Amino acid sequence: MKGAVLHAPRDVRLDERPDPTIAEPGDAIIRLTATCVCGSDLWPYRGIEAVDSPAPMGHEYVGIVEEIGREVTSIRPGQFVIGSFFASDNTCEICRAGYQSSCVHRQPIGAIGTQAEYARIPLADGTLVATAEVPPADLIPSYLAASDVLGTGWFGAVAAEVVPGTTVAVIGDGAVGLLGVMAAAHFGAERIIISSRHASRQRLAREFGATDVIEERGDNAVARIKDMTDGLGAHCGIEAVGTRESMLQAIGSVRPGGHVGYVGVTHADLPGKQLFYSHTHLHGGPAPVRRFLPELIDLISERTIDPGKVFDLTIPLDDVAEGYRAMDERRAVKTLLTLD
Ligand SMILES: [Zn+2]
Repeated sequence: MKGAVLHAPRDVRLDERPDPTIAEPGDAIIRLTATCVCGSDLWPYRGIEAVDSPAPMGHEYVGIVEEIGREVTSIRPGQFVIGSFFASDNTCEICRAGYQSSCVHRQPIGAIGTQAEYARIPLADGTLVATAEVPPADLIPSYLAASDVLGTGWFGAVAAEVVPGTTVAVIGDGAVGLLGVMAAAHFGAERIIISSRHASRQRLAREFGATDVIEERGDNAVARIKDMTDGLGAHCGIEAVGTRESMLQAIGSVRPGGHVGYVGVTHADLPGKQLFYSHTHLHGGPAPVRRFLPELIDLISERTIDPGKVFDLTIPLDDVAEGYRAMDERRAVKTLLTLD
């Protein structure tokens, strides 16, 4: 099969890779319907995370079940399924508490690489959620968004304790930040303030429910948000970047006792003293997307939400290198890769 492989920084290629086969009795093999490039794929692509040997890429996926192992009972061949970036049993104590991305048996899908024609999904019963029927083509981008960026934005809003009437500051205008806006609106936030300097992202943010768009960053953004909230700061912050500056902007933007949901893959050390005196609740990490999938699938199938709009570049998997370049150069928010 064909699959994307990162050979060195900024060198991603579509290589011939071995067809996956059932390795464990809980596995399923899926034929990808669509896949995409994640903002977090840019960390190794840019060389910020080391690439020691050629690495298969991709951890977002929707597809049709081709084959199941002998222990799989909850899904069957022919079904359209969605999973997330960690396979999880969905039965252990951690999963039952809603933290499937820290499942005691978790396996990273990124090591498998779903920017490919086929993928082996471990722990299929716990990981994959099937739709009631094979969806129409126009809903595929939204289901694909649920696989990571929508579920991650959703967790950001849940972790930030967004409830009706709150003011929410969103840091990051990538796909996760924009879908954090969508989630905050769904949870009834009264005011949603996002930092963005890009016209197309600002437009999408407003479409998803942002009430205010500010162009300031860092300390200037913090000062602006304080001005907008009687000097107090927002109730909730959704951090969707992962740098030191964005974390400090999120912490600075919320009031004492406020909540920050941080879902950008953090590459930063934080100043302890500043954290101590902030009185901020911090809750984040790799989103337990599996927790939210049944609800998100319902919202998408009934067309209540349309998160597929975050894909502003759709190209064939064959052109995967261009998909990475476009996101790296911020010409695209998010690239959807189609398969034949
Ligand atoms: Zn588990």
